[in-house]
Amino acid sequence: MSVIIPKTINIAELAPALTGYPKPKIIITTHHKPDADALGSSLGLFHFLKQLQIQPQVVSPTDYGDFLKWLPGENEVINFEEFEEKSTELVQDADYIFCLDFNALKRINKLGEIVKNAPAKKVLIDHHLEPEGFEDYRLWTTKASSTCELIFWFIEILGMVHLINEDIATCLYAGMMTDTASFKHGSTTPTTHRVAAVLLEKGAKPNTIFEQIYDNYSANRTRLIGYCLNEKLQILDEYNTALICITANELKKYQSVTGDTEGLVNYGLSIKGIKFSVLIVDRTVLRKMSFRSKGSFPANEFARKYFNGGGHFNAAGGESSDNIEQVELKFKEALQDYKHLLI
Ligand code: 5GP
Ligand code: MN
Repeated sequence: MSVIIPKTINIAELAPALTGYPKPKIIITTHHKPDADALGSSLGLFHFLKQLQIQPQVVSPTDYGDFLKWLPGENEVINFEEFEEKSTELVQDADYIFCLDFNALKRINKLGEIVKNAPAKKVLIDHHLEPEGFEDYRLWTTKASSTCELIFWFIEILGMVHLINEDIATCLYAGMMTDTASFKHGSTTPTTHRVAAVLLEKGAKPNTIFEQIYDNYSANRTRLIGYCLNEKLQILDEYNTALICITANELKKYQSVTGDTEGLVNYGLSIKGIKFSVLIVDRTVLRKMSFRSKGSFPANEFARKYFNGGGHFNAAGGESSDNIEQVELKFKEALQDYKHLLI
C-alpha cells in the first residue's frame, strides 16, 4: 500500500534497536487523561512491539474514562498517580521512552520531569502543532488525522505491516475513529481511509469499536449532558459562540467521573451559525477549558493567548487557576478582541 510519509522524520533509525538483541526496555506514555487516540496509539504500539518479542510497559500519567476500559491490553496499563514509585523506576530504567499524542512535557504532569531526566532515548510520535523538541527520534506531522494513524505509518516505515494483528488493528482504529469524529473532520485524508481499510482487513470491527466507545454511557453521564444542554448552554449571538460552564457542584450532583464531559463541547458547534464552542469545567485544582471552532477561527491561538493552552487550529484546550465565574468573565472579554473573526 502506498501512504504519504512525511519527510521530517528519523524514526526509521530505530529499526536495528527494535529488531536486534538484546531486546530494549521500552516505556510508552501519553498525555494526561488520555482519550481514545492517546490510549489507542499507546496500546497499538504496545501490541506491535510485542510482535517483535519486546515487553513494553504503558504508563499513563493519570486515570482515564471507562469508555476505554475495553481496549485490548488496557488492563496492563499502569497509572502513574496510583503507582508512582513503580512507574518512576520503570521510566528511569528504560532504554527508550515513546511519547505519544503530545509534544510538550507539561502535558504529562509530574511524569514530565521524570521522563526529561531519564537516561533513555525519547521517541516522539505526534500530530500536534509546535513540538517543544525534547525527543531524540521523531515521527511528527500535523497532517495525520491521529497519532493512531502515525503508529500505522511507523509500522509501514519499518516494513512490518504484515505483523499487524487484530489487537493492534482494533486499538489503532479506535483512535482514528474518535480523533476524526468518525472520519468526518477535515483531517480525514485519502491516506486515513486507506489505513482504516487495512485495519479492517486485519480484523478491526468498526461496529463493535463504535459501540464500545459511544454506546457505553452511564445514565448519569447522559443526564449530565441533558442538563447542560437544557440549563447551561449559553448562545452568545453577537459572537456566534456557544458556551457551557459546569460547576464542581453540578459535576458532583451527577456523580461525574473521568471522561463524562468528553464530547460535550461539540454540541455547541452543531447549532446552525455557531463558529466557536467552548466548555469550561470546574475541576478540583483548575478550571479546564475545551475550545472547538469552525472554518478560519483559530481556537489554538485563542487558547494560547488567554488560557495558557494550545492544540489544533479547530480543537484546542486551556486551563486557569481563577474561579469559574472569573474564567467565564475573562472568556467573554477575550471574545471582544476576536469579534471580527466570528461575525
Ligand atoms: P480537549 O478539549 O479534547 O481536552 O482537547 C482538545 C485538544 O486541545 C487536544 O488535542 C489537546 O492537544 C489540546 N489541549 C487540551 N488542553 C490543553 C492544554 O491545557 N494545553 C495545550 N497546549 N493543549 C491542550
Ligand atoms: Mn490525537
